[in-house]
Amino acid sequence: MPEKSYDHQSIELKWFERWQSADLYKAEENSAKPKYYVLEMLPYPSGTLHIGHIRNYAIGDALARYKWMRGYNVLHPMGWDAFGLPAENAAIANKVPPRAWTQRNINSMKATHSRFGFSYDWDREVSTCEPDYYRWNQWFFLKMLERGLAYRKQALLNWCPKCATVLANEQVVEGCCWRHEDTPVEQRAMQQWFLKITDYADQLLDDMKQLEGGWPERVLTMQRNWIGRSEGAEIDFKLVESGELIRVFTTRVDTIYGATCVILAPEHPLNAKLLNENAKARAKEMVDMRAGRDPGDIEKEGFFTGHYAANPYSGEPVPVWVGNFVLMGYGTGAIMAVPGHDERDFEFCRKYGITVRPVIRPTDGELAVEPGMVEPFTDYGVLENSGHWSGLSSEVARPRMAAYAEEHGFGKAAITYRLKDWGISRQRYWGTPIPVIHCAKCGVVPVPEDQLPVLLPDNIEITGAEGSPLEHVPSFVSVSCPRCGGPARRETDTMDTFMDSSWYFYRYCDPHNDKAPFDSAKIAYWFEIDQYIGGVEHAILHLIYSRFFTKVMRDMGLVHNSEPTKRLFTQGMVIAEGAKMSKSKGNVVGADMLAERFGTDTARMFVLFAAPPEKEVDWRAEGAEGIYRFLGRVYRFATRNVGRTEGSGASDRKVLRKLHQALEKITEDFETRWHFNTCIASVMELVNVLYAEEGEISPQATAEVLEKLALMLQPFAPYVSQELWSELGKEGPVFKQCWPAYDTELAKEDLAEIVVQVNGKLRSRVYAAFGTSSEEVERMALADEKIAAMIAGKKIVKIIPVPDKLVNIVVK
Ligand SMILES: [Zn+2]
Ligand SMILES: [Zn+2]
Repeated sequence: MPEKSYDHQSIELKWFERWQSADLYKAEENSAKPKYYVLEMLPYPSGTLHIGHIRNYAIGDALARYKWMRGYNVLHPMGWDAFGLPAENAAIANKVPPRAWTQRNINSMKATHSRFGFSYDWDREVSTCEPDYYRWNQWFFLKMLERGLAYRKQALLNWCPKCATVLANEQVVEGCCWRHEDTPVEQRAMQQWFLKITDYADQLLDDMKQLEGGWPERVLTMQRNWIGRSEGAEIDFKLVESGELIRVFTTRVDTIYGATCVILAPEHPLNAKLLNENAKARAKEMVDMRAGRDPGDIEKEGFFTGHYAANPYSGEPVPVWVGNFVLMGYGTGAIMAVPGHDERDFEFCRKYGITVRPVIRPTDGELAVEPGMVEPFTDYGVLENSGHWSGLSSEVARPRMAAYAEEHGFGKAAITYRLKDWGISRQRYWGTPIPVIHCAKCGVVPVPEDQLPVLLPDNIEITGAEGSPLEHVPSFVSVSCPRCGGPARRETDTMDTFMDSSWYFYRYCDPHNDKAPFDSAKIAYWFEIDQYIGGVEHAILHLIYSRFFTKVMRDMGLVHNSEPTKRLFTQGMVIAEGAKMSKSKGNVVGADMLAERFGTDTARMFVLFAAPPEKEVDWRAEGAEGIYRFLGRVYRFATRNVGRTEGSGASDRKVLRKLHQALEKITEDFETRWHFNTCIASVMELVNVLYAEEGEISPQATAEVLEKLALMLQPFAPYVSQELWSELGKEGPVFKQCWPAYDTELAKEDLAEIVVQVNGKLRSRVYAAFGTSSEEVERMALADEKIAAMIAGKKIVKIIPVPDKLVNIVVK
C-alpha cells in the first residue's frame, strides 16, 4: 500500500466526531464481568486545562483502556468541584454571576476533555454546584447533626479589617491579607459549625493498615503526622494565690520534677483573670501574629504573668508565663516547660533566663549538669532528683505517675491529637447553604428533610462587602420557624467546599438518584475505588475528609466499606522548560495549544514518556517533537506495509522477539509499577527494528506486528491506535478488543552455544546471548566446573575467543 503521512489534525478530528455520538465509555449495570473503578480527582473548573491536568488524566485514561481490554467492566467518570472562591472573585471583578462563570468554564474544559478523547462515562457527570448534588451535602449535614457529629461553637477566624471579611487560611500570606499585602490579619471569635472528625481520629489511624502497600508511604506518613496522636497525661498545677487550676498536657510526665515554668496559650481563658490590660493587649497581638502561619516557623516569644503555680508532685511553685508557641487547639492550651528535656522548652527558657534543671539521665550515662548544657536530653532514661520516683526508668514511670495523679485527684492519663474538629462555616456565597434556621424561641432548628434542598439564590449582587452576601438577600434570610411557625432567620453561612468533594465518588455510582444520595447496592458493587489518581497536595485535607465521610456513612448503614480507596497514586508535577508553570511567568502550557500544535496523542504520550509517572516531568517542545516524529514513523511504516504480500521471513524471529518483549514489558508494568516511560521506549525499540528489517519480514509476521502494534498503542495514543486499526480493515473501538497476550518463548533472547576447548580439544559448552562480549564469555568458560577442574594448577598461556561460537584455552 502507498505510505501515508501522519496528519494528526485530520485523524484526531475524524475519530473525535465519531466518538462523540455513541455511549462509548458507558459502565455496565448488572455486569457479570469483574469491575474496575478508576478515578482521577475531580478538577476545579477554573476554565482552562494545562499539561499538568493532562498528565493526571492521561495516566487514568491509559489504565481505564487497558482494563477494558483485559475484560473488566470499567467505571471511569468525571465531574466538577464547582463551588468555591474564584467564581465569587470573578463575580466581583467582572460582574459575571458565579453560576454563569462556572458553567462557561465547565463547558470549555469539557470540550477539551472530549478533544483529548478521555474515556469518561459522561452520563455520570457530577457538578457539585447543582441543587441535585448539594441537596445531599445538606442531607449529610442533617444526619451528622442528628448523630451529634455536627455542632456549633465560638471559634477564632482570620479577619481582614480592610476586606471586612473572614479569610480562609490559604488567603493569609505571611500573616497578611492576600489582597491587602500590608494589612495584618486579625483573629476574630465567631460562631461556627464544626464536624467532629476527632471522634474518628483513632479509626483514621488504625485503618491506615488497610492502605499500606496501596497508598504511597509518604501520604500515610503525612496523614499520621496531621492526626498527631500523643499519649501522655493531664496534670493540674494550682495557682498559688487563687487556688485555681491550670491543666497542662504532657507526653513526658516522667520529667515533671524538671518543670521550671508553666506556659499558657495567649488565647487561654485564664488570661482574662491573670493579665492586666497591657498584658492582654500583648496576648491579643500574639494571637493575631499567628494567623495563617505555621507555629513552628514563628520566633518563640513570651512574658511572665506575675503569678506562680505549684507542681502537684513536688509542691514547688513555678512561674506562669504566656507563650506564642502554645496552641489552644492542642492538648489543654497550657504546657509545663521542661527545658532540660525538650528542645522547644530549652530554647524558650534559655532566651528568658528561666532555670534549666535536668532530671533524667541516660540509661548508661551521667545526669547532665547545668550550667554548661548545650542541648537538652530528650530520650527516655532514668529519673533522678524526682522524689520517690527516682531510679525508675521513663517507661515505667510514665504510666505509674499518671495513675498516681488520678488517685490523688490532680490529673489522669490522656491522649491528645493534633487533628482538630473540621470547621465548615464559610461567610461566602458560592457554596452549599447550611440547612438550619435560627429562631429566637427555639434556637437552632434543622431544616426538615422534605424541604431540601435549601436553594442557593441566583442573581444576587456580590460586592465583596462585609459579611456573607446571603445576609443581604431578605427573601433568603427571612423564614418562618419550622418548629413554632414564628419569624426566624436562615443560616447564611455556606459549607466549606471540601464537604462537596468528600463523597462525590459515591454519587458517580448512582448520579440520577433523587430519593437518596445513592443506592447502597450500587455502592456495594463498585466500591472500593480500585485506583484513585491525583496530586500529592491533597495528601491531607481531601484525602482525610473523604476517609472520615466514608466511616460516618458506614456507621449510618449506607455503605459497607470502611475506606473509599484501595489504591492511591500521586503523580509528579509538570514544570515547563525547567521552571514551575505560573500565569505570571506566562509559561503555562495549555492543553488546547498542545492539541492544536502537536495533537492530543503526542501530548499524552509526552507526559507518559518523559518520566516515570510519580516523578516530575519537564515540558520541552523538542521532547514533544520527538514523540510526534515517532508517531509519524509508526504511521508511515504501518500504512505502507498493510497487506504486504512478500518478504523472505529472514528477520521474523528478530522482529517477533522485539514485539513480544515489548508486550510483556507493557503488560507487566500495567499490573505492577506503571513505568510507562520504559513501556513506550520498548515500542520505540520495536519500531527501530521494524525499519531496519523491513525488507525481510514475512507477510504473516507483518500482519501480526501491525495488529498488535495498534492494540498496544491504545492506552497511550488512542487516536493513532484507532486509525491503524481501521487501516488494517478492522472494525469497532480498539479499547473493546482483547489485550494481546505475549508469548514468553518468543520473547526470550536466543542463546548461542559456545564450544569450550582446552588445547584445541572440545571439553565443555556454555550458553550466552548472541553478541555477548569476549571477556564475559571467557569468564563463563573459566568458571565452568569441568573446565575449572581440568586447568587447576596449570598456567594459562592464552585464550582465543571466536564470538558466539568458541573459546579455546591454551594451558601448560
Ligand atoms: Zn483584605
Ligand atoms: Zn421557633
